[in-house]
Amino acid sequence: MTEPLLKVRNLKKHFPIKKGFLGKVVGSVKAVDGLDFDLFPGETVGLVGESGCGKTTAGRTILRLIEPSDGSAALNIDNKETDIFTMSGQELRAARSEMQIIFQDPFSSLNPRMTVGSIIGDALELHGIAKGDEKFEMAKQLLERVGLQAAYVNRYPHEFSGGQRQRIGIARAVALKPKFIVCDEAVSALDVSVQAQVINLLEDLQKEFGIAYLFIAHDLSVVRHISDRIAVMYLGRIVEMTDCETLYKTPLHPYTQALLSAIPEPIPGKKKKRVILQGDVPNPINPPPGCHFHPRCPYSTKRCETETPERAEVSSGHSVACHLVEEGQRPPYTAT
Ligand code: SF4
Repeated sequence: MTEPLLKVRNLKKHFPIKKGFLGKVVGSVKAVDGLDFDLFPGETVGLVGESGCGKTTAGRTILRLIEPSDGSAALNIDNKETDIFTMSGQELRAARSEMQIIFQDPFSSLNPRMTVGSIIGDALELHGIAKGDEKFEMAKQLLERVGLQAAYVNRYPHEFSGGQRQRIGIARAVALKPKFIVCDEAVSALDVSVQAQVINLLEDLQKEFGIAYLFIAHDLSVVRHISDRIAVMYLGRIVEMTDCETLYKTPLHPYTQALLSAIPEPIPGKKKKRVILQGDVPNPINPPPGCHFHPRCPYSTKRCETETPERAEVSSGHSVACHLVEEGQRPPYTAT
């Protein structure tokens, strides 16, 4: 059986809230509050949830662009497992060639003063892969691989459209042939037609290089086309995780059902029942007790207000954190 490329266990990221002259810690923002999942080689896991649920913080913490508060993220390269969170600075720099990120906003993530050739080539030089003319030759090949002209190597980021800039970001991310890329809302800022092109490109590169993606998005309709499995996040925790087909056909968590009901029906005239959630995502400084979702859940019971549901497997590879599901109930649930 294939070993996971990445094992994330009990990942927490709490940002302290400081007050006063001495910066006394008076509380914390629990952005990520106990995340567990595996990512297999060449697989795409979609991480989905509303704005503020902690998905971007989770992706950046796994790469240690932000320091974690607790937990582990074991990266398995050539059958050697190393916890990213305990790596020394030198180990982390070396591991950067195996794990990369594609940002949502390709404009602010590309240095406006550097040519595209330098942006892509510098990563190659930093990791001792190529330098001088060779790195620019490799940058040209990478540009062509992501559907841009090699001649663009001497241009600056502002000379490109949003979709082209995202292709440059992808070229930079795959330059070192990483095993794992966090795609942080990588297509959210693009037009729908360009989104499809970029998703196709990511899929082609995945097949070619065997890259695993953690694909972060707020929209379930976007992740559907690229993900093998999907994890639905709510207020710092995964509430449901399963393969793509099962999630769309038989979602069990009321929050997943609400997110799915918000996707427009592609067949004209066909209607579906919309689940309208009350209010916004609660403040992660002071999350509701019990099930974090209970103030917005149409099926909330007394138990939900005090007892936190643990995510448990309901069938092979399908796990849900909900008391109703744990008690053996299945949708359609009855509102209390
Ligand atoms: Fe709703 Fe209760 Fe399930 Fe939470 S545990 S999702 S409040 S039914």
